[in-house]
Amino acid sequence: MSGRTNATRLSPEEGVKSFQEIESTLTPVQATIEASRCLICENPPCNIGCPAGIDIRGFIRKIRFNNPWGGIRVLREANILSGVCGRVCPTEALCEEECRSQVLTEPINIAALQRYLIDLERERGPRKRSPAAQREEKVAIIGAGPAGLAAANELALLGYSVTVFEGSAQPGGAMVSAIPSFKLPDDIVEYEIDQIKKLGVQFKLDTPLSEKLTIDDLFEQGYEAVFLAVGLQKPFALGIEGEDLEGVYTALDVLAEATGQRSSQPVKIGKRVVIIGGGSVAMTAACSAVRMGAERTTVVCLEAPDEMPAFAEDVLLAWEEGVQFITRARALRFLGDGQGQVAGIEGVHIEWKQSGSFVPENAVDLEGSGFTIPCDTVIVAIGQGPDENAIKQFQGLKTNPRGYLLVDEETLMTSRPGVFAGGDILHNPASRTVVQAVAYGKQAAQSIHQY
Ligand SMILES: Cc1cc2nc3c(=O)[nH]c(=O)nc-3n(C[C@H](O)[C@H](O)[C@H](O)COP(=O)(O)OP(=O)(O)OC[C@H]3O[C@@H](n4cnc5c(N)ncnc54)[C@H](O)[C@@H]3O)c2cc1C
Ligand code: SF4
Repeated sequence: MSGRTNATRLSPEEGVKSFQEIESTLTPVQATIEASRCLICENPPCNIGCPAGIDIRGFIRKIRFNNPWGGIRVLREANILSGVCGRVCPTEALCEEECRSQVLTEPINIAALQRYLIDLERERGPRKRSPAAQREEKVAIIGAGPAGLAAANELALLGYSVTVFEGSAQPGGAMVSAIPSFKLPDDIVEYEIDQIKKLGVQFKLDTPLSEKLTIDDLFEQGYEAVFLAVGLQKPFALGIEGEDLEGVYTALDVLAEATGQRSSQPVKIGKRVVIIGGGSVAMTAACSAVRMGAERTTVVCLEAPDEMPAFAEDVLLAWEEGVQFITRARALRFLGDGQGQVAGIEGVHIEWKQSGSFVPENAVDLEGSGFTIPCDTVIVAIGQGPDENAIKQFQGLKTNPRGYLLVDEETLMTSRPGVFAGGDILHNPASRTVVQAVAYGKQAAQSIHQY
């Protein structure tokens, strides 16, 4: 039994030179070899592991029996962002986790096979998709991230007239404003959004839900349902001394710069960069800083390597690209150079009061373990939450104390009839991924259809 087939990748030395995509697409021969390893299992666990509900066994089987268009159809029926997910899905924690092929050798490279099919579709041109007969009802979607896009796609296929109101100048949400092109090139996102536009979905860009366009206004304009998919736009702050110094940025600002979007402040990455945080956003910011000219990049995070919330693949990439890690540690304050510019961080090592809980409140400083790291840039990457402006626009919809929308789990309807919500704006920190947002979008579309 042969092992897993991986696509070729840029070496770390090549990768860090630019934002060029690191991984390439499998060749037809490689894809056929990899698909041939699939055991075509009864009750396949891979299918259960896919939040978007892709029949994974089904599309792999189509590759194996030389029916790529059949495979593409299987993917497109379940996930309009299949090309994106083939690049960014943390498959090791989803479909591949229980893949039975690992009993013999290694799990099937499901993401690479998915990506192979969608890249083939891009090369040859997509097949036309026909929506159901046009219905009279109009639906408004707020936010053009993966949750909003997936809902728009499903509702348009069901025949609804769909308008997506997006606050920024470009659709795509975090896929275009935060995930850099070395992981996900913009043209992949644009290509999949084009498939949605072809169904007749209207996009109103630079048109946020605001005092000028409220949920009430949308109902008055004749929309019969509203789907809120505004994501999390407010970066958390540490609240420590020196956070307002020049050269201290949020990860979202750095990633906006890295993806060519508008950042809330001009970003200048120096030679010695410290990133605070142990999640995938921190790892992505670290790899971006390396590409933006940093010569020494250090991650400081509370967790030990096996406790970090980042996906293993993201940690591995940062490590391969020369990022240093100071783990089980926290920043105490940022030091200035006397002229308002950050010049270093002061930190301390920690241990956990109780095992198994990796939250700041459970950390206790280890006496005598203080350290200083000289640097000219600090990137704070400790998570995002709902921003106050978004919460104001919810017009009294029920939220939890931190502003996350509360919904009926089955229907995703909020406390106001006809208003649904999904994606990152629901409090589900364990599964903030593109594919989970797609799953929410599909679920909301079905609920709106039943409504
Ligand atoms: C740096 C980074 C790296 C990531 N890497 C990965 C990865 O590798 N794999 C993965 O699966 N996931 C990754 N994620 C997570 C993933 O991108 C999110 O879980 C997903 O995008 C959430 O989708 P969403 O539609 O809920 O929100 P978003 O993608 O945030 O989209 C929300 C949209 O709503 C718009 N909006 C906000 N307020 C308003 C308003 N008032 N009116 C109108 N529009 C509004 C925003 O402009 C945005 O376009 C990453 C996230 C970040 C930040
Ligand atoms: S679990 Fe693995 S081996 Fe079984 S059908 Fe799915 S991909 Fe193939």
